[in-house]
Amino acid sequence: MIIPVTQPFLPPMEEYNNRIAKLWGSKWLTNNGVFVRELEDELASYLEVTSLSFVGNGTLALQLALKALDIKGEVITTPFSFVATTTAIIWENCEPVFVDIDSETLCIDADKIEEVITKKTTAILATHVYGIPCNVERIEEIAKKHGLKVIYDAAHAFGVKYKGKSILEYGDISTLSFHATKLFHTVEGGGIVTNLGPEMDKQIKLLRSFGFEDECYKMVGINAKNSEFHAAMGLCNLKYIDQIMEKRKVIADTYDARLLKHFVRPSISKSVDYNYAYYPIIFETEQELVAVKEALDKKNIQARRYFYPTLNELPYLQSYYPCFNSEDISNRVLCLPLYSDLNIKDVERIIDLVLGELK
Ligand SMILES: *Cc1c(COP(=O)(O)O)cnc(C)c1O
Repeated sequence: MIIPVTQPFLPPMEEYNNRIAKLWGSKWLTNNGVFVRELEDELASYLEVTSLSFVGNGTLALQLALKALDIKGEVITTPFSFVATTTAIIWENCEPVFVDIDSETLCIDADKIEEVITKKTTAILATHVYGIPCNVERIEEIAKKHGLKVIYDAAHAFGVKYKGKSILEYGDISTLSFHATKLFHTVEGGGIVTNLGPEMDKQIKLLRSFGFEDECYKMVGINAKNSEFHAAMGLCNLKYIDQIMEKRKVIADTYDARLLKHFVRPSISKSVDYNYAYYPIIFETEQELVAVKEALDKKNIQARRYFYPTLNELPYLQSYYPCFNSEDISNRVLCLPLYSDLNIKDVERIIDLVLGELK
């Protein structure tokens, strides 16, 4: 039996079928239908934000965020994230400017941001990597001082709170991914949350739908909508999200109990309500990582090198920005399997295999 690094939660099939049966009745399959609106309301309420726009995926969410804020020129960003964080910037004809990560949280090192601000800098796009919040207070301070927009790639941060409030309340826009591999999923899907008020929220909804509204083509838009089928999956899954997180916490605690004394882990401040989105461990050397990964592979256990390589070394970049911590840590970090249906016996077996390879 294969143990993947992650596996999507699936709701009881009849719950999904019951919802889908309604679509056979209404024949309203997409274009802001009943389920899309219901999901947007339920997500906004669950995540404790005023509103949320459901879109096709998390990459489109990033592109729309950059477009809605009219971001041009240079965008300061993190090298330690999924590739979409960088490519969204390039796709929007902006230049990514990489700032190294903090070696403890693995998020962008806010104290190094000011060093790279130029006249062309317009925004900061940072990732709450593994669901660990960026230094949002320092970033806000810098953004205010220099007149920069702030976008958070919150693809890993579903349900995360910082100092008791939603992490999505920081920055101008936060984007989410509801891809099947993520903590909460709609098969494919993404979300956009803005803190700039109802006008910006309307603008985002207009952009995702060809710029078309009230029989008028109001602006250049794109098709970033999502369907009733995807929304139905989200509505079914959302009912179970607290259970999903609780199970993941038990697994993470089981890993912690035996692995913490052997590995460095990214540090999560006490002010954070964490979501257990990933379980990364940092090895002393890449050699050790490779040995463990191979030992797991032999047993059909698929640990993954998230995030490797570091994004400042992507082959299609114009300039090279050295990022020592990110280059170093991306070589030594491995994510162990973590999903709600993973059973504890298998977790113990994975731990045995990992520890068995250590010298
Ligand atoms: C998954 C992910 C995305 C992209 O989301 P998709 O829904 O797959 O397009 C963007 N950023 C980060 C950090 C991610 O992990």
